[in-house]
Amino acid sequence: MASPPRMLLLGAGLSGGLLALALSELGVEVELAGGSLVDSATGWSYGGVPWWAGAANPLGELLATAPCRWDQLQQRHGELGLRRAHLWLHWPEQAPAQAVAKVQQGLAGLPQQPELTALPAQEAIEQEPLLAGADLGGVMQLPYWRIDPLGLQQGLERAWTVAGVQRRAPLPAAELQQRLESGQTVVLCSGAAMLALLQAMGLQAPPVLAFSWAGVGRCDGAQLSAERIVMPLLGQRGGRETAASGAAVICDPGLAPAPGGGLLVGQTSWFDRPIDDPPPVDQDFEQLSRVRSQLVPSLSEGSNGPFRLQQQPVAYSRDQQPLLGPLPGCPNLSLFTGFGGPFALVPALTPLMAQALATEDWSQIRGLGLLCR
Ligand SMILES: Cc1cc2nc3c(=O)[nH]c(=O)nc-3n(C[C@H](O)[C@H](O)[C@H](O)COP(=O)(O)OP(=O)(O)OC[C@H]3O[C@@H](n4cnc5c(N)ncnc54)[C@H](O)[C@@H]3O)c2cc1C
Repeated sequence: MASPPRMLLLGAGLSGGLLALALSELGVEVELAGGSLVDSATGWSYGGVPWWAGAANPLGELLATAPCRWDQLQQRHGELGLRRAHLWLHWPEQAPAQAVAKVQQGLAGLPQQPELTALPAQEAIEQEPLLAGADLGGVMQLPYWRIDPLGLQQGLERAWTVAGVQRRAPLPAAELQQRLESGQTVVLCSGAAMLALLQAMGLQAPPVLAFSWAGVGRCDGAQLSAERIVMPLLGQRGGRETAASGAAVICDPGLAPAPGGGLLVGQTSWFDRPIDDPPPVDQDFEQLSRVRSQLVPSLSEGSNGPFRLQQQPVAYSRDQQPLLGPLPGCPNLSLFTGFGGPFALVPALTPLMAQALATEDWSQIRGLGLLCR
């Protein structure tokens, strides 16, 4: 009898973690290299599942299946941190009315038609006392789901053991090169580190693949009063990611439950910095402290505990389409990266990615326009 196929996955964050389970279900022997999920973008994410954010096309329809996919994953593998939540999109008092109305119209025209509720500033503060004193013009509420990163980490570790996924330490480029030369199938799920890894092996990275350094504040002594994620209605990161150049840093005023409890505050995105040179801590901290004064001015080090900074690099794709499948010219090395809204896209795409890897038939991924380019 032929022995089962073996694959090596690099990166034990959201993308590598779910892909390892999907491949195991297809009978593939999976070796998953990488450190703890705590040391990844996934580990410090807000974990919001933007299932309604897609266009009226097959990829948008797939994205809309994300809550159902997470539910199926939990039924199969046990608790993975899935929480029903709301997204609050807020704007400041002095925000241009026209810009606010334009985004609101866009939300009302979303093909998935999520239920929209407008909350005047006062009502939002009554529901969420942490926002007392915030610079708030109003809030749009949308249905949302959230994955708690700590719940995900614990659930994945349990599920990998049950599925027989072999865990091993992160792999340096030289060893990866040897594995590739021996003909082994390798999938890079290594997020932002992927660019440096490809470069170290003398391989050309896809031109649309990029990363930014993210910073987020954490305060253990404060909690949102319900399962909700607060983000800016007039966010700028998407526009900056698709632009060839622009501001060196974008700061999104947001709030989310921290992994396992506490509060995450803000998100900075630093562009055009090398992977081995995180942004200066004092400058990152200054950006996030401004968010704290704007959105949660009542937080104080005295009564809510220290405000700490976490920094992680995050991969993205300049054309906002993920990159799946063999790196051109390197058939046994595939990528699984570049997601916009990965907590919705990754669970929806992993069954297709696993099937394509197992059968070497990439037609479905090509049909969605996601084949590595
Ligand atoms: C503050 C913040 C808020 C966010 N909010 C949201 C949100 O609400 N919704 C959403 O969908 N997304 C959100 N994101 C983005 C999302 O968290 C990431 O895009 C996503 O988690 C990336 O998952 P990944 O598995 O592809 O990469 P990562 O989580 O970066 O994991 C890659 C892993 O590979 C490892 N690795 C690197 N090199 C090697 C090697 N040589 N060998 C083995 N392993 C290696 C890394 O150490 C890391 O553990 C947010 C991100 C941040 C920082």
